[in-house]
Amino acid sequence: MVTRRDFLGLCICGFPFFWRRRCVRMAGISFRVIRRGSGTRRYLHIHGNETSARELLLSHLQTFKGTGFVIESEQRYVVVSGGWIDPNRMFSAAGAGKSLRALNPHWSDEDVRAALRKLDRDREKFLYRIAPPRGGLLIALHNNRETYSVQDEVPISDRVSLKAPASPREFLLATDPRDFEILSASPFNVVLQNTPAGEDDGSLSRWAAREGVRYVNIEAALGNRQGQAEMLEWLERNLPPVYEPVTVSSLRTNRSGSRFRPDPVFRKVPGTHA
Ligand SMILES: [Zn+2]
Repeated sequence: MVTRRDFLGLCICGFPFFWRRRCVRMAGISFRVIRRGSGTRRYLHIHGNETSARELLLSHLQTFKGTGFVIESEQRYVVVSGGWIDPNRMFSAAGAGKSLRALNPHWSDEDVRAALRKLDRDREKFLYRIAPPRGGLLIALHNNRETYSVQDEVPISDRVSLKAPASPREFLLATDPRDFEILSASPFNVVLQNTPAGEDDGSLSRWAAREGVRYVNIEAALGNRQGQAEMLEWLERNLPPVYEPVTVSSLRTNRSGSRFRPDPVFRKVPGTHA
C-alpha cells in the first residue's frame, strides 16, 4: 500500500523505534531530515566526507529556521545497486551514468542501466522533497581540497566577483542573478551560473539553474569551518527568504496541501531522459 508518507519520500531510519528519525531517500541513498520551524530555507549536506561542512550545518540548524537534509554516510561516494556513485552527480540521468561508469569500471552496460532506472524512479520525488518553496532558497555546503577552487568555476560562470583572491577555495556559487547581485557586495568570492552550458554533470547546481530554483553552494576548504560559517551567516543576514510575496490565497490553493509549495518546481525535469 502506498501511503502519503511513501508518496512524499519520507521514511523512518534506524532501529529500534526509539532511535527512529525522519529521513528522505533516493534509490536507497538516505538523508536525515532536520526540521526547524517553518522557515523557507532548505539546507543540504551531500558529501559525507566533508566533515566541517556537516558540523557547521548541524550547529547552524540549532539557531536558524528551515529544513536541513544531511546525507547518512561518512564517505564521498555512496552505494546504489551495489556500486558506487557520487551523490552530487545523480540529478540527471546523463550525469549519473557518467559517475556510475567511472566509479564501477567492472560494470556491464546492463548494470549501469539497472542503477539508472532506480535513480530515475526516485529523482523527481526526491527533488520535490528537498526543493525550497517557490521563490525560496536552497543552500548546499561543500568542503574542498587543494585540487579545486573558484578558478575552476570562473570559465563556466555567467558572472564573477572575486573579492578574496587570496582565498580561492572559499567561494559562493549562485544560480539566481538577484542573489548574485547581493552576494557580490560581500567580501567573498562569488560566481553566478544561471545558464549552464556544456556537458550535464548531474550536479544539483545545474538542476537548480535549469529549473530556475534559487540555489547557493557555499564552498570552503575542508577544516575551515570558521570561514564557511562567516559566508553562511552573511548570506543569512542579506538574502531574502523569498522574492515573490506568498499570498494567503496561494497558500490555500496549492496542489500538494503543503503550506509552502504553491507549484511543483520540478515540472520541467526530464525524468528518464538522458
Ligand atoms: Zn562536496
